Amino acid sequence: MLFNQGNAGNPELLSGIDYQPLSGFQPELAAQCWLVLYDGQIVVNDEDHYLWHSLDQFEAHMSQRAVVTGYLHEQAVGIVELSSLADGLQTTSIRSLLSVSDSTVYAHISHSLQILTSRKEHAFCGCCGHRKREKSGEWAMVCTGCGHPTYPRISPCVIVVVSRGEELLLVRHIRHGQQSTMHTLVAGYVEPGESAEAAVRREVFEETGLTLGDVNYCFSQSWPFPHSLMLGFHAEYKSGELVLEEKELCFGGWFHKDSLPELPPEFTISRQLVDYVL
Ligand SMILES: [Zn+2]
Repeated sequence: MLFNQGNAGNPELLSGIDYQPLSGFQPELAAQCWLVLYDGQIVVNDEDHYLWHSLDQFEAHMSQRAVVTGYLHEQAVGIVELSSLADGLQTTSIRSLLSVSDSTVYAHISHSLQILTSRKEHAFCGCCGHRKREKSGEWAMVCTGCGHPTYPRISPCVIVVVSRGEELLLVRHIRHGQQSTMHTLVAGYVEPGESAEAAVRREVFEETGLTLGDVNYCFSQSWPFPHSLMLGFHAEYKSGELVLEEKELCFGGWFHKDSLPELPPEFTISRQLVDYVL
């Protein structure tokens, strides 16, 4: 398997990453290769590789200006999104690419996608409605009318592996489809004014009816779907019977550590948290 390091906040796992993100927009910097997006997927070339050395063939199809995001293996790399796709070009899903990639590819794609998302979502000012433009040296988009800056949005989200003795609590989400057999963890966004630890207790209670004992932070992962920062926790079960939140979950149950069902791919923090407590 190509994947071998994961991308969690564990310092030992971060040491092998060879992607250096730029700290801001550099309009004069030219890229040696490009990540090309279309309709939420990555356009792959004839070698079935996800990087392109030239954008010449895409000039008529770009929905916005290409942007350089960082250095991948010491080469400047950029990202661009297409509004249409020429005949004969193939795409692959981001998740399937990540599932066979290493932590360097994950770091590159996660950062690039979030820069692209920020430029799209902040094209206009939320205060006065005027168009925004890039600010050199930062990732802020600045309003041409009132000057209001908007930085890339990062949304904190908690995800928790809950243990009860030798058992782990695993759930299946409705959004993954009724046919999916993949079991994952309880997760949810942190609310305004809430601590991450309180969010863990609230999400577990809301989704499963269970209350927790000790809650401990483990590590984090930047998650580019579309701009989450996943804060990973381990918690001990305290009390309660499973009562599922049926709008979000289609299954929840306890599994012994020695007989776990299908789990998410190794690049996900969900899987890494399960592996962490085994
Ligand atoms: Zn404005």
